[in-house]
Amino acid sequence: MLALRLKSWKSEAVLEEVPEPQLPPAGAIIRVLGAGACHSDLHLMHDFEADPMGWGPPFTLGHENAGEIVALGREAFGLEVGQKVAVYGPWGCGHCRRCAIGEETYCENAARIGAAGGGLGLDGGMAPLMAVPDTRLLIPLGDLDPVEAAPLTDAGLTPYHAVKRSLHKLIPGSAAVVIGAGGLGHMAVQILKAVSPAKVIVVDTRAEALEFARSLGADETLIMGDDTSARITELTGGQGAEAVIDLVGADSTITLGMRVARTRGDLSLVGLAGGSAPFSFFSSRYEVEMASTYWGTRAELMEVISLAQGGLIRSHIQRVKLEDAIGVYRLMREGKLEGRAVVTPNA
Ligand SMILES: [Zn+2]
Ligand SMILES: [Zn+2]
Repeated sequence: MLALRLKSWKSEAVLEEVPEPQLPPAGAIIRVLGAGACHSDLHLMHDFEADPMGWGPPFTLGHENAGEIVALGREAFGLEVGQKVAVYGPWGCGHCRRCAIGEETYCENAARIGAAGGGLGLDGGMAPLMAVPDTRLLIPLGDLDPVEAAPLTDAGLTPYHAVKRSLHKLIPGSAAVVIGAGGLGHMAVQILKAVSPAKVIVVDTRAEALEFARSLGADETLIMGDDTSARITELTGGQGAEAVIDLVGADSTITLGMRVARTRGDLSLVGLAGGSAPFSFFSSRYEVEMASTYWGTRAELMEVISLAQGGLIRSHIQRVKLEDAIGVYRLMREGKLEGRAVVTPNA
Protein backbone atom coordinates (compact mmCIF):
# COMPACT_ATOMS: atom_id res chain seq x y z
CA MET A 1 0.00 0.00 0.00
CA LEU A 2 1.04 3.63 -0.55
CA ALA A 3 2.02 5.61 2.57
CA LEU A 4 3.27 9.14 3.31
CA ARG A 5 6.54 8.53 5.13
CA LEU A 6 9.07 10.59 7.01
CA LYS A 7 12.37 8.91 6.08
CA SER A 8 14.81 11.07 8.05
CA TRP A 9 14.85 14.25 10.13
CA LYS A 10 15.17 17.53 8.22
CA SER A 11 13.49 16.19 5.11
CA GLU A 12 10.13 16.42 3.39
CA ALA A 13 7.81 13.43 3.63
CA VAL A 14 7.69 11.07 0.62
CA LEU A 15 5.08 8.71 -0.80
CA GLU A 16 6.26 5.12 -1.00
CA GLU A 17 5.03 1.54 -1.06
CA VAL A 18 5.06 -0.26 2.30
CA PRO A 19 3.75 -3.66 3.43
CA GLU A 20 0.29 -3.80 5.02
CA PRO A 21 0.42 -3.63 8.85
CA GLN A 22 0.33 -6.74 11.07
CA LEU A 23 -2.67 -7.21 13.36
CA PRO A 24 -1.67 -6.49 17.01
CA PRO A 25 -3.02 -9.17 19.42
CA ALA A 26 -4.83 -6.67 21.69
CA GLY A 27 -5.48 -4.06 19.03
CA ALA A 28 -7.01 -3.49 15.63
CA ILE A 29 -6.40 -2.67 12.01
CA ILE A 30 -8.18 0.51 10.95
CA ARG A 31 -9.15 1.45 7.41
CA VAL A 32 -8.18 5.10 7.62
CA LEU A 33 -10.98 7.44 6.53
CA GLY A 34 -9.42 10.66 7.80
CA ALA A 35 -5.87 11.66 8.82
CA GLY A 36 -5.44 15.32 9.79
CA ALA A 37 -2.47 17.23 8.36
CA CYS A 38 -1.12 18.92 11.48
CA HIS A 39 1.28 21.82 11.82
CA SER A 40 3.44 19.71 14.12
CA ASP A 41 4.17 17.40 11.16
CA LEU A 42 6.03 20.39 9.68
CA HIS A 43 8.13 20.55 12.84
CA LEU A 44 8.85 16.83 12.41
CA MET A 45 9.96 17.43 8.80
CA HIS A 46 11.86 20.66 9.12
CA ASP A 47 12.84 21.48 12.71
CA PHE A 48 13.59 18.35 14.72
CA GLU A 49 17.14 17.06 14.87
CA ALA A 50 18.42 13.53 15.36
CA ASP A 51 16.93 11.86 18.41
CA PRO A 52 15.52 14.81 20.37
CA MET A 53 12.79 12.63 21.90
CA GLY A 54 14.31 9.17 21.89
CA TRP A 55 12.49 8.15 18.70
CA GLY A 56 12.67 9.00 15.05
CA PRO A 57 12.14 8.12 11.39
CA PRO A 58 11.35 6.15 9.36
CA PHE A 59 7.60 6.05 10.01
CA THR A 60 4.29 6.87 8.31
CA LEU A 61 2.97 10.32 9.24
CA GLY A 62 -0.54 11.06 10.53
CA HIS A 63 -1.33 11.35 14.26
CA GLU A 64 -4.94 12.66 13.98
CA ASN A 65 -6.83 9.63 12.77
CA ALA A 66 -10.29 8.17 12.43
CA GLY A 67 -11.56 5.23 10.45
CA GLU A 68 -13.32 1.92 10.39
CA ILE A 69 -12.23 -1.23 12.22
CA VAL A 70 -11.46 -3.95 9.65
CA ALA A 71 -9.80 -6.51 11.94
CA LEU A 72 -9.54 -7.09 15.70
CA GLY A 73 -6.74 -8.99 17.47
CA ARG A 74 -7.55 -12.22 19.27
CA GLU A 75 -7.17 -10.55 22.71
CA ALA A 76 -9.10 -7.40 21.73
CA PHE A 77 -12.59 -6.85 23.06
CA GLY A 78 -15.21 -4.16 23.55
CA LEU A 79 -15.42 -3.14 19.89
CA GLU A 80 -16.64 -4.70 16.67
CA VAL A 81 -15.40 -4.97 13.11
CA GLY A 82 -17.13 -2.32 11.00
CA GLN A 83 -17.35 0.21 13.83
CA LYS A 84 -16.20 3.78 13.08
CA VAL A 85 -13.68 5.04 15.63
CA ALA A 86 -11.37 7.92 16.47
CA VAL A 87 -7.82 6.95 17.38
CA TYR A 88 -6.46 8.44 20.61
CA GLY A 89 -3.05 9.64 19.42
CA PRO A 90 -0.59 9.54 22.36
CA TRP A 91 0.23 5.89 22.94
CA GLY A 92 1.69 5.21 26.40
CA CYS A 93 2.49 1.92 28.09
CA GLY A 94 -1.10 1.61 29.31
CA HIS A 95 -0.02 0.46 32.77
CA CYS A 96 1.84 3.23 34.66
CA ARG A 97 0.04 5.66 37.00
CA ARG A 98 -0.33 8.34 34.34
CA CYS A 99 -1.67 5.90 31.73
CA ALA A 100 -3.99 4.38 34.35
CA ILE A 101 -5.84 7.70 34.56
CA GLY A 102 -5.85 8.05 30.76
CA GLU A 103 -3.06 10.62 30.71
CA GLU A 104 -0.93 8.72 28.19
CA THR A 105 0.67 11.98 27.05
CA TYR A 106 2.71 11.88 30.26
CA CYS A 107 3.41 8.11 30.34
CA GLU A 108 6.16 7.35 32.87
CA ASN A 109 7.63 4.76 30.51
CA ALA A 110 7.69 7.02 27.44
CA ALA A 111 11.48 6.86 27.13
CA ARG A 112 11.43 3.04 27.08
CA ILE A 113 8.59 2.79 24.54
CA GLY A 114 10.63 4.55 21.85
CA ALA A 115 7.69 6.33 20.17
CA ALA A 116 4.98 8.82 21.12
CA GLY A 117 2.23 7.22 19.01
CA GLY A 118 1.12 6.43 15.48
CA GLY A 119 2.57 9.11 13.19
CA LEU A 120 5.06 9.98 15.93
CA GLY A 121 7.71 7.26 15.76
CA LEU A 122 5.30 4.46 14.83
CA ASP A 123 3.30 4.20 11.60
CA GLY A 124 0.37 6.63 11.53
CA GLY A 125 -2.72 7.22 9.43
CA MET A 126 -1.39 8.67 6.16
CA ALA A 127 -1.92 5.27 4.53
CA PRO A 128 -4.99 3.16 3.69
CA LEU A 129 -4.48 0.90 6.74
CA MET A 130 -3.11 1.52 10.21
CA ALA A 131 -2.38 -0.78 13.16
CA VAL A 132 -3.48 0.42 16.61
CA PRO A 133 -1.83 -1.59 19.42
CA ASP A 134 -4.72 -1.65 21.90
CA THR A 135 -8.47 -1.13 21.67
CA ARG A 136 -8.34 1.19 24.70
CA LEU A 137 -6.99 3.75 22.18
CA LEU A 138 -10.15 3.61 20.03
CA ILE A 139 -13.19 5.77 20.77
CA PRO A 140 -16.46 4.92 18.95
CA LEU A 141 -17.78 7.77 16.79
CA GLY A 142 -21.41 6.78 16.43
CA ASP A 143 -22.86 8.84 13.58
CA LEU A 144 -20.02 11.38 13.40
CA ASP A 145 -18.33 11.69 10.00
CA PRO A 146 -14.85 10.13 10.48
CA VAL A 147 -13.25 12.70 8.14
CA GLU A 148 -14.52 15.58 10.26
CA ALA A 149 -13.77 13.64 13.44
CA ALA A 150 -10.09 13.01 12.66
CA PRO A 151 -8.86 16.51 13.70
CA LEU A 152 -10.86 16.29 16.93
CA THR A 153 -8.20 13.88 18.20
CA ASP A 154 -5.58 16.64 18.27
CA ALA A 155 -6.83 20.03 17.01
CA GLY A 156 -9.88 19.47 19.24
CA LEU A 157 -8.36 17.57 22.14
CA THR A 158 -5.33 19.83 22.66
CA PRO A 159 -7.26 23.09 23.24
CA TYR A 160 -9.92 21.14 25.18
CA HIS A 161 -7.25 19.95 27.64
CA ALA A 162 -5.98 23.52 28.06
CA VAL A 163 -9.53 24.83 28.62
CA LYS A 164 -10.26 22.01 31.09
CA ARG A 165 -7.29 23.12 33.19
CA SER A 166 -8.96 26.49 33.80
CA LEU A 167 -12.61 25.49 33.71
CA HIS A 168 -13.22 26.01 37.44
CA LYS A 169 -12.09 29.64 37.02
CA LEU A 170 -14.32 30.34 34.02
CA ILE A 171 -17.33 31.39 36.05
CA PRO A 172 -20.09 33.76 34.88
CA GLY A 173 -18.54 37.17 34.24
CA SER A 174 -15.11 35.72 33.50
CA ALA A 175 -13.05 36.08 30.33
CA ALA A 176 -10.84 33.73 28.29
CA VAL A 177 -8.27 34.91 25.75
CA VAL A 178 -7.38 32.67 22.80
CA ILE A 179 -4.17 33.70 21.05
CA GLY A 180 -4.04 32.26 17.51
CA ALA A 181 -7.18 31.57 15.49
CA GLY A 182 -5.89 28.74 13.28
CA GLY A 183 -6.60 25.00 13.34
CA LEU A 184 -6.55 24.74 17.15
CA GLY A 185 -7.85 28.26 17.78
CA HIS A 186 -11.07 27.76 15.82
CA MET A 187 -11.75 24.69 17.98
CA ALA A 188 -10.77 26.53 21.21
CA VAL A 189 -13.39 29.22 20.56
CA GLN A 190 -16.18 26.67 20.05
CA ILE A 191 -15.09 24.61 23.08
CA LEU A 192 -15.04 27.68 25.35
CA LYS A 193 -18.50 28.72 24.17
CA ALA A 194 -19.80 25.17 24.63
CA VAL A 195 -18.49 24.47 28.12
CA SER A 196 -18.18 27.86 29.85
CA PRO A 197 -20.00 31.19 30.24
CA ALA A 198 -16.73 33.12 29.77
CA LYS A 199 -16.43 36.05 27.40
CA VAL A 200 -14.14 34.78 24.61
CA ILE A 201 -11.55 37.23 23.28
CA VAL A 202 -9.53 36.07 20.26
CA VAL A 203 -6.23 37.57 19.11
CA ASP A 204 -4.54 36.95 15.76
CA THR A 205 -2.50 38.85 13.17
CA ARG A 206 -4.90 37.94 10.33
CA ALA A 207 -8.21 39.76 9.90
CA GLU A 208 -9.83 36.85 8.02
CA ALA A 209 -8.94 34.37 10.80
CA LEU A 210 -10.59 36.72 13.31
CA GLU A 211 -13.67 37.01 11.13
CA PHE A 212 -13.90 33.22 11.13
CA ALA A 213 -13.50 33.15 14.94
CA ARG A 214 -16.35 35.64 15.25
CA SER A 215 -18.58 33.45 13.08
CA LEU A 216 -17.88 30.60 15.51
CA GLY A 217 -18.98 32.63 18.53
CA ALA A 218 -15.98 34.73 19.63
CA ASP A 219 -17.28 37.73 21.60
CA GLU A 220 -14.35 40.04 20.85
CA THR A 221 -11.60 39.83 18.24
CA LEU A 222 -8.39 41.84 18.25
CA ILE A 223 -5.62 42.23 15.70
CA MET A 224 -2.33 41.57 17.50
CA GLY A 225 -0.56 44.89 17.96
CA ASP A 226 0.97 47.33 20.44
CA ASP A 227 -2.35 48.11 22.10
CA THR A 228 -3.62 44.52 22.44
CA SER A 229 -2.76 44.22 26.10
CA ALA A 230 -4.46 47.54 26.91
CA ARG A 231 -7.55 46.54 24.90
CA ILE A 232 -7.89 43.23 26.76
CA THR A 233 -7.47 44.99 30.09
CA GLU A 234 -10.26 47.36 29.06
CA LEU A 235 -12.50 44.49 27.87
CA THR A 236 -12.08 42.73 31.23
CA GLY A 237 -12.93 45.71 33.42
CA GLY A 238 -9.26 46.36 34.21
CA GLN A 239 -8.79 42.92 35.78
CA GLY A 240 -7.41 40.74 32.99
CA ALA A 241 -8.60 37.30 31.88
CA GLU A 242 -9.16 34.21 34.05
CA ALA A 243 -7.60 32.05 31.32
CA VAL A 244 -5.21 32.79 28.50
CA ILE A 245 -4.52 30.03 25.98
CA ASP A 246 -1.50 30.74 23.81
CA LEU A 247 -1.73 28.56 20.71
CA VAL A 248 1.21 30.32 19.06
CA GLY A 249 4.06 30.38 21.59
CA ALA A 250 6.12 33.26 20.18
CA ASP A 251 8.00 35.78 22.37
CA SER A 252 5.29 38.37 21.72
CA THR A 253 2.35 36.08 22.48
CA ILE A 254 3.81 34.70 25.72
CA THR A 255 4.57 38.26 26.84
CA LEU A 256 1.00 39.27 25.99
CA GLY A 257 -0.37 36.28 27.93
CA MET A 258 1.67 37.21 31.01
CA ARG A 259 0.38 40.78 30.84
CA VAL A 260 -3.30 39.99 30.43
CA ALA A 261 -3.85 37.03 32.79
CA ARG A 262 -5.66 38.31 35.88
CA THR A 263 -4.52 37.77 39.48
CA ARG A 264 -4.73 34.00 40.15
CA GLY A 265 -5.54 33.50 36.46
CA ASP A 266 -4.04 30.83 34.20
CA LEU A 267 -1.69 31.06 31.25
CA SER A 268 -1.52 27.86 29.21
CA LEU A 269 1.23 27.62 26.61
CA VAL A 270 0.26 25.24 23.81
CA GLY A 271 1.93 26.65 20.67
CA LEU A 272 5.29 25.32 19.52
CA ALA A 273 6.80 28.49 18.03
CA GLY A 274 9.64 28.21 20.56
CA GLY A 275 9.41 31.72 22.01
CA SER A 276 10.08 32.77 25.58
CA ALA A 277 9.54 35.70 27.93
CA PRO A 278 11.33 36.75 31.12
CA PHE A 279 9.61 35.86 34.38
CA SER A 280 10.01 38.34 37.23
CA PHE A 281 8.10 39.74 40.19
CA PHE A 282 6.48 42.36 37.97
CA SER A 283 6.08 40.39 34.71
CA SER A 284 2.51 39.34 35.50
CA ARG A 285 -0.23 39.93 38.06
CA TYR A 286 0.09 38.03 41.35
CA GLU A 287 -0.25 34.25 41.48
CA VAL A 288 -0.77 33.70 37.77
CA GLU A 289 -0.39 29.98 37.14
CA MET A 290 1.62 29.26 34.01
CA ALA A 291 1.92 25.85 32.42
CA SER A 292 2.86 24.28 29.15
CA THR A 293 0.25 21.72 28.14
CA TYR A 294 0.58 18.84 25.72
CA TRP A 295 -2.33 17.13 23.90
CA GLY A 296 -4.94 15.60 26.28
CA THR A 297 -6.25 12.53 28.05
CA ARG A 298 -8.28 9.58 26.79
CA ALA A 299 -11.29 10.62 28.87
CA GLU A 300 -11.04 14.14 27.46
CA LEU A 301 -11.12 12.77 23.90
CA MET A 302 -14.37 10.99 24.81
CA GLU A 303 -15.69 14.36 26.04
CA VAL A 304 -14.59 16.15 22.86
CA ILE A 305 -16.34 13.52 20.74
CA SER A 306 -19.48 13.91 22.86
CA LEU A 307 -19.40 17.66 22.23
CA ALA A 308 -19.14 17.02 18.48
CA GLN A 309 -21.90 14.41 18.58
CA GLY A 310 -24.11 16.96 20.32
CA GLY A 311 -23.40 19.48 17.55
CA LEU A 312 -21.68 21.88 19.97
CA ILE A 313 -18.30 21.86 18.20
CA ARG A 314 -17.32 21.11 14.64
CA SER A 315 -13.98 20.96 12.85
CA HIS A 316 -13.93 22.88 9.60
CA ILE A 317 -11.94 20.86 7.13
CA GLN A 318 -11.00 20.32 3.53
CA ARG A 319 -10.58 16.81 2.16
CA VAL A 320 -7.32 15.95 0.42
CA LYS A 321 -6.20 12.81 -1.43
CA LEU A 322 -3.10 11.00 -0.16
CA GLU A 323 -1.35 11.77 -3.47
CA ASP A 324 -1.83 15.51 -2.80
CA ALA A 325 -0.65 15.49 0.83
CA ILE A 326 2.92 16.65 0.11
CA GLY A 327 1.56 19.70 -1.71
CA VAL A 328 -0.75 20.46 1.20
CA TYR A 329 2.14 20.49 3.67
CA ARG A 330 3.99 22.90 1.35
CA LEU A 331 0.98 25.23 1.31
CA MET A 332 0.71 24.94 5.09
CA ARG A 333 4.38 25.84 5.48
CA GLU A 334 3.85 28.96 3.35
CA GLY A 335 0.83 29.89 5.48
CA LYS A 336 -1.45 29.55 2.43
CA LEU A 337 -3.73 26.77 3.66
CA GLU A 338 -7.19 27.74 4.86
CA GLY A 339 -8.65 25.60 7.66
CA ARG A 340 -7.65 22.05 8.51
CA ALA A 341 -6.70 19.63 5.72
CA VAL A 342 -7.70 16.01 6.27
CA VAL A 343 -6.12 13.34 4.12
CA THR A 344 -8.52 10.60 2.96
CA PRO A 345 -6.27 7.67 1.99
CA ASN A 346 -9.19 5.46 0.92
CA ALA A 347 -11.14 8.05 -1.08
ZN1 LIG B 1 -0.96 17.41 15.75
ZN1 LIG C 1 2.42 4.64 30.83
